[in-house]
Amino acid sequence: CISVEGVTKRFGPLTVLNDLSFTVKPGEKLALIGPSGSGKTTILRILMTLEEINGGHIRIEGEQLFHMPRNGGLVAADERHLHKMRAKIGMVFQLFNLFPHKCVLDNVTLAPMLTAGVDRKSAETRAMELLELVGMAGKAKAMPAQLSGGQKQRVAIARALALQPRIMLFDEVTSALDPELVEEVLNVMRRLAAETDMTMLLVTHEMSFAHDFADRVLFFDQGRIVEEGPPDAIFRNPREERTQIFLKKII
Ligand code: ATP
Repeated sequence: CISVEGVTKRFGPLTVLNDLSFTVKPGEKLALIGPSGSGKTTILRILMTLEEINGGHIRIEGEQLFHMPRNGGLVAADERHLHKMRAKIGMVFQLFNLFPHKCVLDNVTLAPMLTAGVDRKSAETRAMELLELVGMAGKAKAMPAQLSGGQKQRVAIARALALQPRIMLFDEVTSALDPELVEEVLNVMRRLAAETDMTMLLVTHEMSFAHDFADRVLFFDQGRIVEEGPPDAIFRNPREERTQIFLKKII
């Protein structure tokens, strides 16, 4: 479903991803863990084509995400291709970036109506189903400012699902929330993981959630995957010293 091969990403002199490779099978649920600055968010942003890469290849469902000109250097991609690839992927960010002047329902219907040409009635029917799924149907007419952080984040999840992506990326979706609101968002994601066959990649600092959610855990350090495996193996019996040190600190 996703193949990342030898990807390098630099910000100025800083190499953030260093010859990174991994593959994701259709329907697989992956958790990306590791120290701050190890490149986890960057690879999600690259998969969402919010960042370009300096080297390597990424394929999504067999298609190259970026096209590298022969003379090397900058990575270019034409807009139509990007648009098509983006439609396959939904992303939920750390900070719920809902449209502040639109009600909950409009936040969820906007993209399907504007970018996928869905008519209002179908978009609203689908949006209400998704709001039901995330427990927010009762707030369809509320404005974002009237919602708690956990509620906003659940709307953001519904909005990302509205374009019916085959792949969902979650970037530390609970880290900006008050502790008592974390669980309601995690519950929605647990349900999603259990009830859909979407491929999901999750960056998180919530290790017990990563353990329950993921089929496979990737441990990142300094722009590379140091260790990967099923959650039980990584959390109970990590092989690499760097993984052991990280988990000791965080758990
Ligand atoms: P965290 O767990 O703290 O979110 P992370 O593993 O997700 O960390 P990234 O956000 O991918 O790490 O960042 C990797 C490195 O790249 C960091 O050192 C960060 O400061 C740097 N970085 C990220 N985006 C940019 C940017 N747009 N310009 C310059 N440096 C950046």
